This record gives sequence, structure tokens and C-alpha cells, in this order.
Amino acid sequence: MLAQKSILGRSVPGAPSALPPALVLKSGQMRIRYLLPLALTAFAASVPVIKWKTGDRSRPLPAMVTPGEPSTQEHAGTAPSDAVQLFNGRDLSAWQQHNGKPIAWKLGDGYFEVAPGAGDIVTKQPFGDCQLHVEWATPNPAHGSDQEPGNSGVYLHSLYEIQVLESNRNKTYADGQAGAIYCQYPPLVNPARPPGEWQTYDIVFHGPRFSADAKLLEPATVTLLFNGVLAQDHVMPTGPTDYMKRPPYKVTPPKLPLLLQDHGQPVRYRNIWIRELPAE
Ligand code: MG
Repeated sequence: MLAQKSILGRSVPGAPSALPPALVLKSGQMRIRYLLPLALTAFAASVPVIKWKTGDRSRPLPAMVTPGEPSTQEHAGTAPSDAVQLFNGRDLSAWQQHNGKPIAWKLGDGYFEVAPGAGDIVTKQPFGDCQLHVEWATPNPAHGSDQEPGNSGVYLHSLYEIQVLESNRNKTYADGQAGAIYCQYPPLVNPARPPGEWQTYDIVFHGPRFSADAKLLEPATVTLLFNGVLAQDHVMPTGPTDYMKRPPYKVTPPKLPLLLQDHGQPVRYRNIWIRELPAE
């Protein structure tokens, strides 16, 4: 296979090797044979420069964090010591109805549940880039088919939905099942548990960046571990979630509430916590 070494020593697949001038018959071909590899080297990856020396003892040490305990099906786990607890099993004080009415979702024994028809709920506090842990369970027995059973959703920045759905036995379109960035990216694999069992989403989210003159500088990024299995690997949403559409980004503030969707199904949630990440 033809390949050309860049200045960093990386092979550039498909780029032609330099050939002896005797084999180059026309000036146009010569330009392609010699200038294309040079052009490709201009796009070679750059490596970050670390301002600290290796093993530099003047470099600040990371903050100590006490890790949480993992959940079991019977018991909710706990949050890391530096997390904001968004539901600790006892009250919904961190949440409000998106429509401004008093909270109507139902509090159970260590969990809360969508009140179908009451509307979405949002956190009172807005968040920027974050690590987010959410546990959810779809109703057992399941009700309906396709986009019905156990439909809810975790909306990052209230705009980008990670789908919640009964996807262990229920079939729907690929970018509509549990773990999908809804109507954009299917999960890499389907590690969904059966209806009624507790499932976990561990999410790393970076919001989009905009310039002062309202241009998109960087799309949002989402990484998702679904029941501990990588389901979204640093994907870039194409814009806010919409029903069977992919609208473009609109300028949004760097911090927005987290939203949980009421899609008419009594989906349960427990053990929700969030760690805001420092702005880059
Ligand atoms: Mg949904």
C-alpha cells in the first residue's frame, strides 16, 4: 500500500510515495505527487505542551475525593463526596416542574416516579460541563410497544436527550432506543436490563461553545456508560433534540438545568448526583 511519512513520522494511508522524477511525465502529475503529501503533513495531529516537568513536585496535587458506594438492585448507592446530590431518596427539593407549577411527580420509598401528564421536571440549579449519575427503572410489566414502554429521557442542558426506554425486549428504531442520543446516535451496544430492574447512566457532558458574535465554536460532547458499558464515545450532538428532526444549535448560556422527561409513562428514578467540571 502506498504511504507517505509525515514530519511526525506518522504514516498517511493512501498518500502516494515520492517517485523518481523520471517516472513523472507531466507537470500536473508532479504537483500531485509532491505537493499532496506535503499538504497532508499540514493536518498532522499536534501534541499538547505540558508546562510542568515530569515528576515535578511543585505541581499541585489533585483534590482528595471520597468515592461513593455502588448501587445494587435492592439498595441505592451513594455519591462521591464532592458531588451535588440531586435526589437522595427522601425529597424532590432540588427539582421543579418545567411549567412552573408545584412539583407533581410522585415520591416513593427511596425513588421518585413520573406523574404522567404532569410535564417535565428540571433542576432548580443550572449546571455546565459535568459528570452525571442517574438510575432509572421502567414499569414492570411493560405497557405498549415501540416508543411507548418506559419512555422518559435525561436532557442535558434541558436540550440534548439521552433516551430512557424499555429496550431489553422492546424493539424500536436504532436512534430511539435506550442509550441513544435521541434521533441522532444509537448506543454502540445494547446493555439494557429487563423492565422493573434498576439501570445506570454515567455521563460526561461538555456543553457547546459559542463566540461573542454567536457562532458555534465547538459542539457539545457526550460520553455515556450504560449499566457500566460504553454506549456513547465522545459523540457530538448535531444540535438540540427534536422529534424526528435535527435542528441546528442556538446560542445558549454555559449553565442550564438538567431536565427529566414526562412521556406519559410512570418511569422511576433514584440516586441522581452531579459533579460540575471546571471550565477549560
Ligand atoms: Mg424519551
